[in-house]
Amino acid sequence: MTGDSAMVGADQRAVGGQPEAERVDVLIVGAGPCGLATAIACQRAGLHAEVVDRGCLVSGIYGYPTFMNFFSTAERLSIGGIPFSVATEKPSRRDALAYYRTVTSHFGLRVRQYEEVLGLAVLGEGEGVSAGTGAGAMDVARVEGGSGGVAGGRIRGGAGAPPEKNIVAAGPADATIVPPDSAGERWEDVRQHAASPSPSLAPRFAVHSRTRSGRARLTTAHAVVVATGYFGHPNRLGVPGEELPHVTHLFREGHEAFQLPVVVVGGGNSAVDAALDLYRAGALVTLVHFGPDLDSNVKPWVRPDIVNRIREGSIVAHFESRVAAIEPETVLVSTPDGHLIVPAEAVYTMLGYQPNNALLEQLAVPIDPVTGIPLYDASSMETSVPGVYIAGVIASGFDANKTFIENGRHHGDLIARHLRPDLAP
Ligand SMILES: Cc1cc2nc3c(=O)[nH]c(=O)nc-3n(C[C@H](O)[C@H](O)[C@H](O)COP(=O)(O)OP(=O)(O)OC[C@H]3O[C@@H](n4cnc5c(N)ncnc54)[C@H](O)[C@@H]3O)c2cc1C
Repeated sequence: MTGDSAMVGADQRAVGGQPEAERVDVLIVGAGPCGLATAIACQRAGLHAEVVDRGCLVSGIYGYPTFMNFFSTAERLSIGGIPFSVATEKPSRRDALAYYRTVTSHFGLRVRQYEEVLGLAVLGEGEGVSAGTGAGAMDVARVEGGSGGVAGGRIRGGAGAPPEKNIVAAGPADATIVPPDSAGERWEDVRQHAASPSPSLAPRFAVHSRTRSGRARLTTAHAVVVATGYFGHPNRLGVPGEELPHVTHLFREGHEAFQLPVVVVGGGNSAVDAALDLYRAGALVTLVHFGPDLDSNVKPWVRPDIVNRIREGSIVAHFESRVAAIEPETVLVSTPDGHLIVPAEAVYTMLGYQPNNALLEQLAVPIDPVTGIPLYDASSMETSVPGVYIAGVIASGFDANKTFIENGRHHGDLIARHLRPDLAP
């Protein structure tokens, strides 16, 4: 760990071989830009916040195409009031990765990377507190109070949960603070915000997670913020051959397809960016889109480029067409003029994503089946379950074009103010 590393995790204690337990005020699921902004806001309000992510820091951005540039200006991606300036018009993926690392270190945010949250459950008074049900529900069953723990609290496993196990919840975690640098002022800043769990904020939730190495962890929290973004499930074609190894929903860079025939499926920004980059890397690109034209939200400064490439025949486009089947070297395309067999040694299905609402469903937060939007109060971001909040693009359900970093970065301020109206800035 370098001198400017973020403080990663707090003191963890394994008890008798059972899952480790710790207590926080606010547990934030997801270290995307909006989860990080929420952690900063909570720290500023004097709350002990921790962020858990199944991937690396800002893993969504990490997974963007390698040479992608944001459509937003740097200022609109900034969080915590820390300036984000770049020498170019729009920040690149690498600029953003460096920026969010810097901000995380600067505030000494507690981020537990490569740890997936599998289950959330409501803690109740004494015995008989019910837990979430369904996939990923708690697989630990009883929490016995340690100092500051959850005395006598009982969590019942959901369907299919293994037999009960006893675990002892640790008291307030002993944070090991790593100063971002030797400058006294910044050290003070971190110490000021690295609050211990507040005695007045009783744990209301149990959070079950698992590290990449397979260790189970249990965290109790007064509030839970679900900031899991919308990269949960990629939209699928649902056609034969979609599982073949040369089919991917992730596009990194065109070089891999130099001089190869490829098919790009989709008509939005991701499909257009991939098609252009593949074309410029020497691939022979066919674009297949079910709509009559490219999507209306294709970036206006990119649209003339793709339109002209299609017009001159450099990129072949089939509109009002669908992929019917994928073979190892070809794609069967259904067009208004009949079926076509298109050569393809790589197939990029750039069809967008759907949020994964499983954690909210475990806590019985209603999700609108049509929009995919959880029931929540926009003034506080609290869901219909007290103490459970959402932040970031998950708030826009299936339509990821409503919430971006630009607006989702402010959700944390609303949450912190709701939790600590007396202290939040
Ligand atoms: C190519 C591309 C370009 C874009 N350009 C812009 C732009 O210019 N401006 C803009 O404002 N927006 C842009 N966006 C949109 C932006 O990326 C998203 O709006 C933003 O990432 C949402 O942030 P978030 O914090 O809500 O979620 P995310 O960034 O998706 O973060 C969610 C995190 O939750 C983690 N997670 C999920 N489930 C679990 C679990 N069970 N346990 C633990 N961790 C979990 C994930 O690993 C992930 O790191 C772009 C998107 C793409 C794909």
